[in-house]
Amino acid sequence: MSTVNSLDRLLEPTEATTIIRMHTTLLPTERVRLIELAGRILMEDVISDEDQPPFPAATMDGYAVIADDTTSVRRIVGDQFAGTIEAFHVERGTAAYITTGAPLPLGADAVVQIERMIETVEGVRIGEVPRAGQNIRPVGSDLRRGDRVLVAGTVLTPAAVGLLASLGKTDGLVTRRPRVSVLATGDELVEPGKPLGPGQIRDSNRFALVAALAPLGVTVSYAGLAPDTDDAQRSFLIERIADSDVVITSGGVSMGRKDLIKGLFVELATVHFRQVRMRPGKPFTFATAGPQGKTLLFGLPGNPVSGLVGFAVFVRPTLLAMQGHQQSDRPQARVRLAHDLTPIDRIDYLRVALRRADDGVLEAASTGPQQSSRLASFIGADALAIIPPRDTPYAAGEMIDALLLGTVA
Ligand code: AMP
Ligand code: MG
Repeated sequence: MSTVNSLDRLLEPTEATTIIRMHTTLLPTERVRLIELAGRILMEDVISDEDQPPFPAATMDGYAVIADDTTSVRRIVGDQFAGTIEAFHVERGTAAYITTGAPLPLGADAVVQIERMIETVEGVRIGEVPRAGQNIRPVGSDLRRGDRVLVAGTVLTPAAVGLLASLGKTDGLVTRRPRVSVLATGDELVEPGKPLGPGQIRDSNRFALVAALAPLGVTVSYAGLAPDTDDAQRSFLIERIADSDVVITSGGVSMGRKDLIKGLFVELATVHFRQVRMRPGKPFTFATAGPQGKTLLFGLPGNPVSGLVGFAVFVRPTLLAMQGHQQSDRPQARVRLAHDLTPIDRIDYLRVALRRADDGVLEAASTGPQQSSRLASFIGADALAIIPPRDTPYAAGEMIDALLLGTVA
């Protein structure tokens, strides 16, 4: 099964993204306990069924008083700590000791900070004229009953998880984690830690890709290495297609005689495109397979940098979109080129370090030689500068777009 129309057409990255998005479906939902919600995507609206705070609360440690009481020394009627409601009232001529978060005692309408009080044996003297309502959080000032606190599509950041807990929720409805399989291919590849034979190199892509997947909320159900034989790669693909939402392969998608993934995708899946007008990563292959074409296959080129750039530009946003992320693309920034640059015939994703120049503008400088084999070009890279093709060279000082890379995610 294969669609031939766009197969060997060189797509623009934006066209490639559109095709991938057309085949990307939202994953089913599941209820997950609060403690395991970090980074997941909420798939329900959450409405507060209570006011927060539920009682007027002190925002300072100090004394609860009546603001327009002119008594010079107020008698202490008791202590009001957080977590209880005492029976006493504050009346004119009195004050109550109160701690941050404690309910305001009946009768009081202001809290005076402890630092502004002078404590004496007879009581407390205030060093300022209090204002009614000061240092008090009124009922519902953080949240009102009926407020839509979180909406479907929200990333469960620490604050969002905390909000759910504060509302008494014990779980949240989220998309299930995408199941992802990774396969590195190549006869030349050796497991790190094993001795290298003549002509061999170490498999770095499998580990780089699993590391790239780590912050994306996915389950890596398998990550392996296969030699360049049809049988080994075919059996892997059949098994992983059946068990994965996304299968990522590395290597074997170019023009060489040992580039077998290319043919196996055609045999086992529907290939949508296999070339994108970009550097690095031009032989990037996208296919769908399995029931209703719901398993997405990404065939990344074997060169380590090409694989990671293809992952950053196409795979990462897809994995986030499948989980319901509203902003699955990395943020972009306008940055200033720090040096001259010669454009090529396709979009160049240049690894750059960003630095704030003296005039406050973010400046982008290449991380060094940009060969697609040179993983070190990613080290110290804060962004991928997007350099479109054009007839004239780029000059230092020109403004360009850059895709910001997170340090972890
Ligand atoms: P391929 O796309 O399979 O033709 O590989 C292109 C280049 O990337 C070759 O130089 C490979 O040796 C290298 N390469 C392929 N797979 C890996 C890998 N998993 N780790 C490191 N380098 C690789
Ligand atoms: Mg290969």
